[in-house]
Formats: sequence, structure tokens, C-alpha cells
Amino acid sequence: MIKVGVVGYGTIGKRVADAILLQDDMKLVGVTANTYNYRIKTAHQKGIKIFPIDSPPPTPWYGIEIAGDFDDLVKLSDVVVDCTPKGIGYNNKERYKYYGTKAIFQGGEGPDIGKSFVSQCNYDEVVGSDFIRVVSCNTTGLCRTLYPIDQSYGINKVHATMIRRAADPWDIYHGPINALVPHLVVPSHHGPDVRTIIPDLEIFTTSISAPTTLMHMHSIAVDLDSEPTVDEAIWLFKETPRVRVVHNSDGIRSTAEIMEYSSDLGRSRGDMPEVCVWSDTIGVWGKKLLYIQAVHQESDVIPENIDAIRASMGSCNKNESIRLTDSSMGI
Ligand code: NAD
Repeated sequence: MIKVGVVGYGTIGKRVADAILLQDDMKLVGVTANTYNYRIKTAHQKGIKIFPIDSPPPTPWYGIEIAGDFDDLVKLSDVVVDCTPKGIGYNNKERYKYYGTKAIFQGGEGPDIGKSFVSQCNYDEVVGSDFIRVVSCNTTGLCRTLYPIDQSYGINKVHATMIRRAADPWDIYHGPINALVPHLVVPSHHGPDVRTIIPDLEIFTTSISAPTTLMHMHSIAVDLDSEPTVDEAIWLFKETPRVRVVHNSDGIRSTAEIMEYSSDLGRSRGDMPEVCVWSDTIGVWGKKLLYIQAVHQESDVIPENIDAIRASMGSCNKNESIRLTDSSMGI
């Protein structure tokens, strides 16, 4: 059993913790809390052990039994998954090094914090690593579909535009709420980030923030070395792990309907960890392949975090880890 601690119990951390609880080869040691709130109250009700960041805790804990402090969680864990907000992982890294605990970081941290990771693309390269970085939700989404295209047809170059959700659904602080906001730096950081996973890929990305909380959407144009057919591209995406092909004929015409669909599937929190490609948007124009995909930002990186734990421990190979993760999460 791999002993895993989760540091930062927010959007990503609470989903990673739930996914760890589903694994037969992992034990959730506990999660950190830096203040009492409904999330921590719920974790406690689920039987998850709580390790406050500050020792002694400055805030009242409303009857929650405290299992230890941050150092205790790190000491008790073989691996910690650091899901703190952007930039905090760097401060925490020294603590993990000190205790000899491996760590998985998230895409908000820079690529120098650990080896960048997307399961299907570079699992073997990170096996045994002490520090791994699961790349952002957008980068993970891009890599999931571009990698199999590159393997099958050879990519000459890519242009992708990200239409990004303004905030997560629970977030009352961020926007826009009534504007489309272009990212005024090109390329956006997503293209260079994809190259931390697929180094030789020629990719240029642009990005627009939109007033929605549900999902991101990517419009992608890929110049290939050879000419595919639309049916071949659909088949390729259907065969690719963690990619779901969705259809207008099923009444799935929008991100709203994808989210409703994932709830109807009975997914935990209504999550859709698969990247969804509309079959109806796949077009071929000479050697150019075009398609549109939707990315559920809150959940697409969760299976990657679980695989990264196994990769860091070297406890199983890529295909076996993907199989174990996906079957446990109903993907
Ligand atoms: P979040 O704000 O939802 O959660 C962060 C959690 O960390 C909160 O519970 C907060 O209380 C806690 N925290 C804050 N300071 C802390 C500290 N010093 N020590 C321990 N815990 C602390 O953030 P999130 O959206 O889950 O993002 C976490 C990471 O995941 C970031 O790197 C982000 O870029 C990345 N990410 C986010 C999304 C997304 O859409 N939300 C998607 C993919 C990757």
C-alpha cells in the first residue's frame, strides 16, 4: 500500500483524495487544512484525517479531532500530492525534501518544480522521480488528443485556441461575468507547456476567457504529414484512453449538456475526467485536421495524479496504472 497525503484540500485536492480512497494499492494518510470550512467539515465526516497547516492551530476546529500537523502528514506519507494554489508548492518542496517524501505538484507551479507529466505521453520517463508536476487542465487536454494524432499521422504544426472558463463553479471572486477577454500575450503559456510533455511539437496557442464556469473549450487545427479521413480520426479518438467522443445526435451540443450527461452517468460530483471531442466538429482539409474538444477543468487531471503516484513509486507500469485508475473511477 502506498501511503499518500494530500496538501491543499480545494477543487483539485478533494478530488484527488476521493480518488485515492478508491485505489486498492493506496492508503490516504490524511489531508491538510489551513482553516475550518465546509470542505474540511465534509472530509472529517467522510473519516479523512485532518492535519492543520499551523501548529498549534489558530482557528477553532468545531469538534474536529486533529490528527497531527503538516510535518506529521509529510513524515507519515510515502508521497504527498500538493494541491495548494499556484506558487505555494515551491515553499513546500523544501519540507518534502527534508523528510525524504516524494511529491506530486500541479500545473500552477512552473515546469522547474518537477518532471512534467501526462500519463499516456511520458509515464515511463518519470518512473521513480521524487518530484513530478501534473500539467494544467488545458495542457493535459491538449496532450491527450495531440499525442495519439502525432503517433498515428505525424504532426507538422498545431494552432489551438483555448476558450477558458472564467472561474470554477464555487468561486465567487473571479470573472469576467460579462465579457470575452483575450489573453494579450502570444503564444499563450499553453503551447510552451505542451512542449514540456511533447518536446518537438510545433505548437502556437492563443486564449480567451469567457463568462462560464463549466468547462474549457479548445478549437484545434493540426497540420499533418499524411492525410487522414474523418472516420479514421473518430476511430483514433475512440481508441484513446481518457478521450470521449460525443455526438450532436445524442443531444450533446454544448458544455452544459456534457455536464448534465456526466451527472446522469452518476459520476462523483458530476465530473467528466475524459476530454470530450465532438465527432461533428472533426474536419479534414487536405493534410489539416480540425476538431473542437471540451475539458472539465476540475477533474481531467485527477487520473493523472493517481498515475503519477504509482509512477513516482515505480509500483506498476503505464498501461496497468491507467487501467487500475480508470476502472476504479468508472472512466
Ligand atoms: P483551490 O483554491 O481550489 O484549493 C487550494 C487549497 O489549498 C484550498 O483549500 C486552500 O485552503 C489550500 N491552501 C491555501 N494555502 C495553503 C497552504 N499554504 N498550505 C496548504 N494548503 C493551502 O485551488 P485549486 O483550483 O484546487 O488549484 C490547486 C492547483 O491545481 C493549482 O496549481 C492550480 O493551478 C491547479 N489546477 C487547478 C485546476 C482548476 O481548474 N481548479 C485545474 C487543474 C490544475
